[in-house]
Amino acid sequence: MTFLHADSARAELIKAAKSLSASGVLFRGEHANLSARIEGDLVVITRGGSIANLSESNFATVTLQGETVEGEIDSVTAEIVEMHTAVYRARESVGSIMHVHAPHATAFAVAHQAIPVAYEPLVRFGITEPIPVVPWAPRGSEASVGGIVQIVEKHPGLPAVLLANHGVLAFTSNPMQTAHLLATLDEAAELVLNARVLGGEKELPEEALAQVKKHMAQFGSKVMA
Ligand SMILES: [Zn+2]
Repeated sequence: MTFLHADSARAELIKAAKSLSASGVLFRGEHANLSARIEGDLVVITRGGSIANLSESNFATVTLQGETVEGEIDSVTAEIVEMHTAVYRARESVGSIMHVHAPHATAFAVAHQAIPVAYEPLVRFGITEPIPVVPWAPRGSEASVGGIVQIVEKHPGLPAVLLANHGVLAFTSNPMQTAHLLATLDEAAELVLNARVLGGEKELPEEALAQVKKHMAQFGSKVMA
């Protein structure tokens, strides 16, 4: 697995932040934290809680164990570093992680309901099972991070989870892909909510999911992105 150089990781994350904003997945507070794995088992991560007007100076570099090696992390963000590094440690293929309060996906998190696979674009990301909800615990706490890691390990193809009463965490191989996944996931959530007014969503047929599963078994999850 090759990962980005620190400079290109920061540039890609800034580009991805603009894409998140344009696709409407940042809630009104524009609260989010974004990270990318870089060479040398390090992680570039946003320093603050808001990603409005993100620039090169808004990042810190941490080790996979969460130790800061460059830049200073705001106290509000310090507690979420482990939420990112634990997922990188748990899944080697993950190159970029993003946490947002995407309004429709977060509605499912608030209702403690998984987002069903009823919107075909989701399967392009290798998603063949509902996006599950990690039980609530204070954000960044051992219990919360433990719950996330448990699902990441138990569901090797799953690139996102909902954090109960809080938001979404998505993790793919690179920043733009993670941003696109979040946009697609929020679309899926919005469409399911709308479909429920019309009598409820219908899940994709098992054949569609089986095809994706077969493809993934053959080529790995990367090819679906
Ligand atoms: Zn949050």
